[in-house]
Amino acid sequence: MNKVTYSNASSAQNSQPEPRDKMQSLTRGAREKCPNCGEGSLFSSYLKVADSCDHCGEELHHQRSDDAAPYFTILILGHLIVPLLLIVETHFAPAYWVYAVTGLPLVVALTLPILQRVKGAVIAWQWALYMHGFDPDHEPEYPSLSSSLETGSQTSQ
Ligand SMILES: [Zn+2]
Repeated sequence: MNKVTYSNASSAQNSQPEPRDKMQSLTRGAREKCPNCGEGSLFSSYLKVADSCDHCGEELHHQRSDDAAPYFTILILGHLIVPLLLIVETHFAPAYWVYAVTGLPLVVALTLPILQRVKGAVIAWQWALYMHGFDPDHEPEYPSLSSSLETGSQTSQ
């Protein structure tokens, strides 16, 4: 929990990584750019994260955004769509087919660009906090698999 403390004594700072600018990396991630350099693309396709930055080479494959991006996208869009629906319903009370024809395309049109930007911001946040594989001291999640692969590669030579 209290993993990263940057203001400790100098002996502890040698083992601690440099603090990263969280706001800068967040804005870079939200612009779908590499959180390290801000130039390379974070994604190789719509939601597929590039293995590494094509500009600076920063490894991005070990991000773990998982369900955070859809969760935050629903949170953001819910706060936009629900009040809009309440306003429309109380003032105009349109038929349900009007909601289906206008509301569904509106939600899809808003979700698609927001989801990618939120995912970029989540990955950049993980990078800024040295989470998961971005931590230099990170150990593989499946050590038995990686050690068995190493053992397998050593025996094959
Ligand atoms: Zn980069």
